[in-house]
Amino acid sequence: MIRVIQDGPTITLNQALDNREWRSHRQTQLAKRYPTAVVVSVKLNIPGPIKTSRPLQDLFRRGLGCLRQYVVDFPLIDDQILLTRPTGPEAFLVLQGTLTAVKRQAIAFESATVMGRLFDIDTLQAGVATQLSRQDLGYAPRQCLICDQPAKVCIKTSAHQLQAGYQAIQAIYDATMQDTMVIAQPTQATVVQAAMAGLLYEVSLQPKPGLVDPISPGAHDDMTVMTFIDSSLALMGYFNTAFTIGRDFAGDDLTAMFQTLRVAGREAEQAMFAATHGVNTHKGAIFSLGIMVTAVAYATRLTATTTAQLQEIMTHMLTGLVAQDLTALATNQQPLTAGEQQYQQYRLTGVRGEAAAGFPVVLHTALPFLQSTTGQTTQRLLDTLMQIAGAIEDTNLIKRAGTPAITAEMQQWVRDYFARGGSKTPAGLAYLTALDDQFIARHLSIGGAADNLILTIFLAKLGGVLV
Ligand SMILES: [Zn+2]
Repeated sequence: MIRVIQDGPTITLNQALDNREWRSHRQTQLAKRYPTAVVVSVKLNIPGPIKTSRPLQDLFRRGLGCLRQYVVDFPLIDDQILLTRPTGPEAFLVLQGTLTAVKRQAIAFESATVMGRLFDIDTLQAGVATQLSRQDLGYAPRQCLICDQPAKVCIKTSAHQLQAGYQAIQAIYDATMQDTMVIAQPTQATVVQAAMAGLLYEVSLQPKPGLVDPISPGAHDDMTVMTFIDSSLALMGYFNTAFTIGRDFAGDDLTAMFQTLRVAGREAEQAMFAATHGVNTHKGAIFSLGIMVTAVAYATRLTATTTAQLQEIMTHMLTGLVAQDLTALATNQQPLTAGEQQYQQYRLTGVRGEAAAGFPVVLHTALPFLQSTTGQTTQRLLDTLMQIAGAIEDTNLIKRAGTPAITAEMQQWVRDYFARGGSKTPAGLAYLTALDDQFIARHLSIGGAADNLILTIFLAKLGGVLV
């Protein structure tokens, strides 16, 4: 295991204060040079006298990349990245945008990502006097790395030992930096069983917001857990076919492999509808899990693979898919699916977009998160489901809510859930049960998150994360 905080170099209080001066000066200078832009200063929050190490620098670089995703709508005018300062890595990004909009995204990154909790981001615009706080934007104050209290309180009262802080940082590092998982050469039976486990574990979890579980059909009037079991069993043949398509594929153009899978996918949809008497239980999973089964079979045809290679294969398989499928809608006479309608309304690319990017939420958020969890499988999977729900734009949820504004609401529910300790605490479980009731009453459901969880379980089974 890589130790994030290593011995030395230590810095003095004076060095820390001088560095604060230096940062503030540099930020002000940049704001003067780019008076219409927002200057974002990025650093890590590391307690104690040791502020840097090679792993911390790696983590900073990765987090900076993730932050850039959050502020992708604001053109980057200038950036300065200083990784090796003894006082810790620093970066300055100059973005074209308004202070409030940039600040909001920076706070979203800080609060919604595992890694974001280690980051301290300050935004500045020349001539704009007010400094917005998290509370001004409706967020809770920054939470302590170790406990549920506001960080300020714990710092003031020296509530924790330095060692506890180091452990929390190490846990974040392990959860977010080791996202390349090795998948050995699995047999067809192993892959198909992992796919089936994905479907059956997901429906067995309880409580889930609005989704079908063994006790209740949730916000779905036309199905029960039995419908899901029937549907899962009907798809077993399809996963065997998907495996064969990947294992036997010999060409260079992986989009051809995907086209072959699509034909099998259409047959699988018919098998599903026959088994469920016309109810759509697993259309999303037929698409996404089929892709993943084929990709795993292809990637491991000669040797073991990693999730990073798997992601590359999937992006090759789906090259051009979003453009072909969704921009061709104008000429399509058939009724649109939820994803297609939302693409037209909100430009959300949904499961197609996620697949075309190689399922980044599964590989970079859900799987590392699941790896970082402990406890019973049901607890780990409920927490992972909520982690996913807070990380995606769930087209299924948006369709039912009728507005993309539901995404921000969902993120808040996820924060509230984890603030209560998640599935391992009675408070967290009670919150999830109440959320399930609320979802049923409002006829909401997180079908997109469920599909991502199925994929996560599939990979976790193959990679030995779930045994
Ligand atoms: Zn604390």
